[in-house]
Amino acid sequence: MERKNYTPLPSNKTADILSSCHPDKNSDNMTINPMNPLPLSPRPVSCIEDHYNVIACRDLTLTNWSETFSIQPELYFLPRDVEEIREILLLSKTNRKRLRVVGRCHSPSDIAFCTDYMMSLKLMNRVLQISLENLTVKVEAGITLTKLNSELEKHDMALPVLPSLSDVTVGGAINTATHGSGIGYQVLSAYVIELELITCSGGVVKCSKEDKSDIFFSVLCGLGSLGVVTVVTLQCEPSYLLYQRRTPSTLDHVLDDLDDHLTQSEHFRFYWFPHTNHVSLDHIVRLPQGSVLPPALPPLTKFIDNITTWFWNYAVGYHALEFAYYVSTMVPAITPWINRIWFFLQFSKETERIDRSPNIFNFDCLFKQHVYEVSIPVEKTQVVLTELRRYLDRHPHLFVHFPVEVRFVAADDIYLSPAFGRNSCFINVIMYRPYGKTIEYNKWFSALDKIAREAGGRPHWAKVCSWF
Ligand SMILES: Cc1cc2nc3c(=O)[nH]c(=O)nc-3n(C[C@H](O)[C@H](O)[C@H](O)COP(=O)(O)OP(=O)(O)OC[C@H]3O[C@@H](n4cnc5c(N)ncnc54)[C@H](O)[C@@H]3O)c2cc1C
Repeated sequence: MERKNYTPLPSNKTADILSSCHPDKNSDNMTINPMNPLPLSPRPVSCIEDHYNVIACRDLTLTNWSETFSIQPELYFLPRDVEEIREILLLSKTNRKRLRVVGRCHSPSDIAFCTDYMMSLKLMNRVLQISLENLTVKVEAGITLTKLNSELEKHDMALPVLPSLSDVTVGGAINTATHGSGIGYQVLSAYVIELELITCSGGVVKCSKEDKSDIFFSVLCGLGSLGVVTVVTLQCEPSYLLYQRRTPSTLDHVLDDLDDHLTQSEHFRFYWFPHTNHVSLDHIVRLPQGSVLPPALPPLTKFIDNITTWFWNYAVGYHALEFAYYVSTMVPAITPWINRIWFFLQFSKETERIDRSPNIFNFDCLFKQHVYEVSIPVEKTQVVLTELRRYLDRHPHLFVHFPVEVRFVAADDIYLSPAFGRNSCFINVIMYRPYGKTIEYNKWFSALDKIAREAGGRPHWAKVCSWF
């Protein structure tokens, strides 16, 4: 499924370069001269071109979160406002270069990459307006969900739904129809009320459901191909606490009782441990307005609690697991045992907790990995997962990692959204790369791909994807 071989990562870190960029605009107002190309001689990685009053980096290698793709664009721009974006668009047009906007580079695929020019809205990350009356927030598209969550919290507001990780930009999340879980809740893009887009000709287009709705519903999952999204207005809610109950169960039970589970809690999701029948169920409900967080633990109890959490989540759940999966690359037949043992160690006891919504929606996605995710009509969940389990049973020499993450999302009207027009079940499979080791994942992902397509599957565009 991998389409390109990008250069391996050099030791230089993107963050070093970006932290050396000064976000303040230069005082002298030099404008771009598209006829005068940027100097082409190779520069040291830390070199920042301020040639046209637009910050641009050369010889910069970008890598995605999973460290499965990296790329060295010819130029990497960091615009600070709409005018600078226009200048960059003009430059790329004049020099006949392709241009892609990148968010936090967290997509598990190369969807944000391009060898010509790339642009990040990292320096355009402000909250522009908050309406307490309408519970809306207007932001620049380079803001991360993490920053947005904390800004909203100050105003007792929150987003209706979040993905597993908030360290992604609003621009990236809405361009890929990023989703959470809850059969009554849609992909994050569906909560966008209005957005501003700069098209490749430099024109600014404002659109919403009511105004230029065709453009609006195209851009909401536009995969970065329809222009630069600069400003987004999102519908929020009064902030809320979530109660999460995690219980062990079996795949047979959860599939038999799926309709009940889906109605029992607003944000139901579950994790299957392949090669076993075990699943871990997360029932997550919203607590009524006015609910408060449980009282803080006494200091000693809190200290012990922190150490216990660290031990189970990081020592066992991260480091020991990474080591175990590393060993399994040499002795693959132990993989089912690893899945079984980690289920018993970490997921076989019932647990519950109450916390702010971002803390419950987000969770630790562990270490480097290949990921594939597909959406199917919700009523096909049982057929597809049963067939996937049969596939593993029929291929006794194929060993795969946990979890198979199963989430549910309400139908929407966004043209390219995997949940367009139907309530959907999203099935996400993972193959870790312990300590960066190369790992075979194609057979497992292709198996899910084939089974899901027969059930009307659609890919999550940001993940490893064979569809384009
Ligand atoms: C650990 C982890 C957990 C994840 N969990 C989930 C999850 O729970 N649910 C889910 O659905 N996904 C999940 N994802 C996928 C992730 O949400 C998406 O890949 C998201 O797009 C990443 O955002 P980003 O800011 O890094 O965007 P990038 O990956 O940098 O870009 C994604 C796309 O958006 C485009 N883009 C970015 N900004 C703009 C802009 N301003 N204007 C126009 N186009 C733009 C890019 O060109 C590209 O096509 C997860 C990814 C990781 C690594």
